[in-house]
Amino acid sequence: MDCELILQIFTGGFSGDTVSYEAVEKKLLSVLPDLPVRKVIMGWAPDVIRSHRSVYEKTAAFLAKRNIEFFLWFPVFSETGVARDQSPLVDLYGRRLENSRDQAGEDFAFCCPNDPRNIENIFDIFEREFSSIPFTGIFLDKIRYPSFAQGHGQRGVFSCFCPRCQAKYERENFDPRQLQKALSRPVSSPFGITAYRGSGVYTFEDPAVSEFFSLKAAFIFQSMQQICQYFREKGFKIGFDVFAPFLSPFVGQDLASLSRLCDFMKPMMYRITQAPAGLPFELEALLAETDGEYAIKKQIFYELLGLDPHKNMFDLAFTVKETSGFISSSACPVYPGVEINRKKNMAEVYPDYIEETLRAYTAAGINNFVLSWDLLSAPEENLDRICELVGNRGTIG
Ligand SMILES: [Zn+2]
Repeated sequence: MDCELILQIFTGGFSGDTVSYEAVEKKLLSVLPDLPVRKVIMGWAPDVIRSHRSVYEKTAAFLAKRNIEFFLWFPVFSETGVARDQSPLVDLYGRRLENSRDQAGEDFAFCCPNDPRNIENIFDIFEREFSSIPFTGIFLDKIRYPSFAQGHGQRGVFSCFCPRCQAKYERENFDPRQLQKALSRPVSSPFGITAYRGSGVYTFEDPAVSEFFSLKAAFIFQSMQQICQYFREKGFKIGFDVFAPFLSPFVGQDLASLSRLCDFMKPMMYRITQAPAGLPFELEALLAETDGEYAIKKQIFYELLGLDPHKNMFDLAFTVKETSGFISSSACPVYPGVEINRKKNMAEVYPDYIEETLRAYTAAGINNFVLSWDLLSAPEENLDRICELVGNRGTIG
């Protein structure tokens, strides 16, 4: 079977220190001879020492020699506020969302995806910090609104209602007061969900709720069309970092539509990560922000999704099923993101977790992965296990 891997390296946020080229090269040299790697994603700390060739330039040269594509990892509707002022999101009741900073070494303040100034801001930061580096492509992250896990409760998910967004709803004949009414009504399941049809498609009791989520996804898609056009004109290939299908509607991601804009997608299928995008973390946040008694709403939502409530770790069979469904509905190749880094209390990743995960995927015919989300913090034993499994003499893949 053909197996293809993408490596991901986190160099730090926009305001953070970057990493040394030596550290990157050492780590790449330790795995590249053994693994079928075709792409490396790296970002997004700007280089501080401008008089020297940067970590990105040197990595680009290193990868070009080996015929490996090099993607700049770049956040779109979050993070950019660190580098520039951004217009913030406004909730359903007209209140601005305060920033929630620094989760997982990243800044999770989101901005309004409909404000052209925020889109210009993305291009400005790219031009200023990265345009001189010979990347093959760009890997766009945070192409979304806040999730339940961003500390705003429901307010972040039921946004944005700034004057510009209000005008957009009006053009679409959507009345936010209908959404307010829907959210204040007692419902029999989280947000009045009546069914989960897979591939991120839910049905809701109240049409105002489903209409709202469809509009959010349409707005993100429109802004992404514009952003992708800009990078396509530079001759870039494009990858997207996206939420798992069952979480995607709540953050404004219609995965099937988005798949038409890019060359590959990586759903973050992080079963162990207790940080944003991590499946257990996001699911718990969703349940916490729903009205009603925890045990009851958990039982209802798990049943809707078909999730096993008795698993110690996030349900692997469900994760594989979600990924398979996504692959069938996607217009571009899909590489599920599997954690390989170990971060204390946040992503306690050990070799057995990686093996169990990769084996379950390959048994379902899924052989392409993004080893996420930071190669530099992946312990040797984790990398050794991956080489044993999918390396030159590997038993799977
Ligand atoms: Zn807005």
